[in-house]
Amino acid sequence: MFSCASCGYKFKYKEAMPFSWNARVGRDCPNCGTRQYYSAASRKKSMYFTLVGMIIIIFSNSINLPLPYVFLIAGVMVSALLLLTPFIFELSDEEEPMW
Ligand SMILES: [Zn+2]
Repeated sequence: MFSCASCGYKFKYKEAMPFSWNARVGRDCPNCGTRQYYSAASRKKSMYFTLVGMIIIIFSNSINLPLPYVFLIAGVMVSALLLLTPFIFELSDEEEPMW
């Protein structure tokens, strides 16, 4: 689960969720108010997830899987990633450069 990079506050799941759709601008820590961003390592992770997802979609396309199934797989993967984000990503109190 996320913890604040400056005060160590452990986010509750419900507080951690909005990061998934607010990752670029960051969000304030509910405890100390410091703006938190995904760490560079976390953003790299999310990039790899996207990459793997694209490979799976291209693969399922090449084995002639019907389009609705491809969309279904993509949807399941996106929601799984969103739901798991607070467990696999970490926060940083500054916007770290990607590389
Ligand atoms: Zn904090």
